[in-house]
Amino acid sequence: MAKLIVSKFGGTSMGDAECMLRSAEVAFRQNSSMVVVSATSGTTNDLINLGTQAEKGHWPECEALLTKMKERHRRIASDLKSNSESSQKLETLFEEMQSLAKGVHLLRDCSVKAMDALMSLGERMSSVLFTDAMATVLKNHGSGKSAHLLDARDVLKTDDSFGKAKPLTAVVASHCQRHLPKIRDMKTVVVTQGYIGSTEEGMTTTLGRGGSDYSAAILAEGIAADVLEIWTDVAGIATTDPRLCPKAKPIAEISFKEASELATFGAKVLHPATLLPAIRKNIPVFVGSSFDAEAKGTWVRKEVEQHPLIRAMALRKKQILVTLSTPEMLHAHGFLFQIFKIFNDHKVSIDAITTSEISVSVTLDDSTLLNKKLIADLSEIADVQVEENLSLVSLIGNNINHTSGLGKDIFDTISDINVRMICLGASKHNFCFLVNEEQGPEAIQRLHKKFVELA
Ligand code: ADP
Ligand code: ASP
Ligand code: MG
Repeated sequence: MAKLIVSKFGGTSMGDAECMLRSAEVAFRQNSSMVVVSATSGTTNDLINLGTQAEKGHWPECEALLTKMKERHRRIASDLKSNSESSQKLETLFEEMQSLAKGVHLLRDCSVKAMDALMSLGERMSSVLFTDAMATVLKNHGSGKSAHLLDARDVLKTDDSFGKAKPLTAVVASHCQRHLPKIRDMKTVVVTQGYIGSTEEGMTTTLGRGGSDYSAAILAEGIAADVLEIWTDVAGIATTDPRLCPKAKPIAEISFKEASELATFGAKVLHPATLLPAIRKNIPVFVGSSFDAEAKGTWVRKEVEQHPLIRAMALRKKQILVTLSTPEMLHAHGFLFQIFKIFNDHKVSIDAITTSEISVSVTLDDSTLLNKKLIADLSEIADVQVEENLSLVSLIGNNINHTSGLGKDIFDTISDINVRMICLGASKHNFCFLVNEEQGPEAIQRLHKKFVELA
């Protein structure tokens, strides 16, 4: 039986008609049954801007953004020679975009719920266009297959945490069965939106920025796919972000555990949650470039052949360090419980942590500072000190916590860079530490040279 393949294409792979046709060729050659697409490059940012400007009452700015987005999509439709049915679908989505912006403008209020409805339009517009590109490619190859547009909100059911909704895995699987009973027939290519879903009551939600990778993984799990492919603008996962180190090398194979650490600790190439469904169902994940589909790319699998000490490194910017101190922690129990309960109540996730007898330091995303109530609640049980403008440097590999001399090699390489906090020991796969934001790139470049380029 042919393999059931889900392919996801990111924003740059949807950049214009040429990119869409190139991506559709890739999906055709891969024999994909389901294609999950992002919004066209820049559109999600434009939609966020639209919501923000509308809330501020800046209508001329909103009109400029609306015109820009309409023109971008109309141009692609015209270059793809889209049929009138698709053009009509696009115009209807433009009207919805205009009405939502107008509503936000009138109310001067853009709730997370309203923002999700607005942002969903990015993927809903691109998927209409991509379905046409896919149909053209299928026809040109005389494949006998057709392209079919599926509204992801009919299957990707989530909870109601707007802005960062959680997929309801079991519900998704049953909706996939109901809406896609013939997905294994290989007669159609189903095109759907990444990033968006809906509550069981039908309210539109999004999975958080960069969430299309996660959508594709959830859908791959939902239809019990054999392979998940993530097509982007780089030829696979590299030893570090190629924008940071031009000498970054592509990685042929990486384990689920290492790739999860890499994604969580800042490698934008995969949304941090992408591998959860793949791990649950043991679905191998391929990462490749839609611009250079012949390049080898990266396989992410449960078992891999090589287990290097340092495989890759990542930089997670915009971190804050929150230090909580209280003498009451001396010889007392339950303090950590109280702290974690507060973070849990506010749904804030902690990345790295260290403790001393009377203090605890945790790293958080700097957006946490917007949550004034969290800091106020923490201040009720301890003195709170917040340090900003930090970056978390992570080295990812194998047997890291059982290798003597590694710490010395790392810190010798960056001996003149102040290290604010270190996290080592909990994971075999990760060694991370905090540095000042402006020294992060330099730290990565030196460590990459030492552990990858000269290794
Ligand atoms: P898409 O729009 O296709 O989802 P993203 O911009 O979200 O693409 O992710 C791809 C980008 O991730 C690359 O252009 C690259 O700059 C960045 N990146 C960060 N770390 C890595 C890494 N280790 N390997 C490859 N790319 C990385
Ligand atoms: N379009 C969304 C974003 O820009 C989701 C994605 O592209 O993955 O964040
Ligand atoms: Mg992405």
